[in-house]
Amino acid sequence: MIASGSRARRLREGAQGKGSSRELTLRTIEDAILLRERLASRPSVVVIGGGPLGMEVASGCLHLGCEVTLVSDGKPLARQLGDYLGHMFTSSAIRQGLRVVVGGKARLMESDAGTRVVLADGTELEADLVVTAVGDEPNTDWLAGTRLLVDGALRVDTRGRLRSDIVAAGDVAFFPSSRGVRRVPLWTSAIDQAKAAAVGLLKGDAAPEFTFQPYFWTEAFGLSLKSVGFTPMVGAPDYFEPGEDSDSMLLRWEDKDGSGTAVAINYRIPVPKLRRLADAGPSPRTLAHMM
Ligand SMILES: Cc1cc2nc3c(=O)[nH]c(=O)nc-3n(C[C@H](O)[C@H](O)[C@H](O)COP(=O)(O)OP(=O)(O)OC[C@H]3O[C@@H](n4cnc5c(N)ncnc54)[C@H](O)[C@@H]3O)c2cc1C
Repeated sequence: MIASGSRARRLREGAQGKGSSRELTLRTIEDAILLRERLASRPSVVVIGGGPLGMEVASGCLHLGCEVTLVSDGKPLARQLGDYLGHMFTSSAIRQGLRVVVGGKARLMESDAGTRVVLADGTELEADLVVTAVGDEPNTDWLAGTRLLVDGALRVDTRGRLRSDIVAAGDVAFFPSSRGVRRVPLWTSAIDQAKAAAVGLLKGDAAPEFTFQPYFWTEAFGLSLKSVGFTPMVGAPDYFEPGEDSDSMLLRWEDKDGSGTAVAINYRIPVPKLRRLADAGPSPRTLAHMM
């Protein structure tokens, strides 16, 4: 079973490909401890990357009292969650004091004076601390020359297999889903793939095929989100149910392929119930009605 995960992608590769020591990333416990130490003096921070991780890091830094700028090559969170939720998170972030800069691909320039972030239009930003959250890279280097890689990628079949005696699961693996072959570097995806791959290893073709059921959560800028179903969603939700507080709600989007995505924002709900809402069809009346 190959489950070697992935590592943070870096904007700047330094000597021996280890990256620059001035570019902080967040992947391991050591990264987290270093980041916490560097934040102790409340430095100004530029976070590069408007995905869930960049937004969570920016939110944490802001919460600590740092002056924070988020640099994103598109609307934050829109690629992952769609425009509607991306806007909701970004608005909340700006209200709390985050400076958001949306432009093209940013670069890092280093000198003895420090690290500068150079935007696509040439604008330079300075900060005491630069944290990048620009995606991950599968840990497959150690498999070079094994013939398990196809175009540098580990591609498993619907039972997690690379061969009858070797399976792969988690952030390292590309697997077939109803939306094509993809790598889904998320916690529950890794766990579900691993279960399917273990059975695939033991039972071969008699093992059930893996059916990917997307589940994702994130928490930033006072918004706690749980989502069941494929993302990103297009447009505004088809269904809205307010929660007890003004910022708490249940939402549902109907996709053109007939599947649904259900999202809870600041709304306590067990995942199986959220899944029921996702599967409820185009016009669920209320959650209470469905239970
Ligand atoms: C900061 C952060 C926040 C996240 N937040 C969320 C979230 O909110 N929700 C969510 O769903 N997911 C989240 N994720 C993603 C989630 O953590 C991963 O999807 C999950 O850890 C993947 O599990 P894995 O076992 O495939 O890989 P990993 O957890 O990366 O584990 C792989 C292990 O294999 C080791 N390894 C690598 N190469 C070798 C080798 N050659 N020999 C031996 N060991 C090796 C690695 O050191 C590592 O310990 C987050 C990830 C990060 C970094």
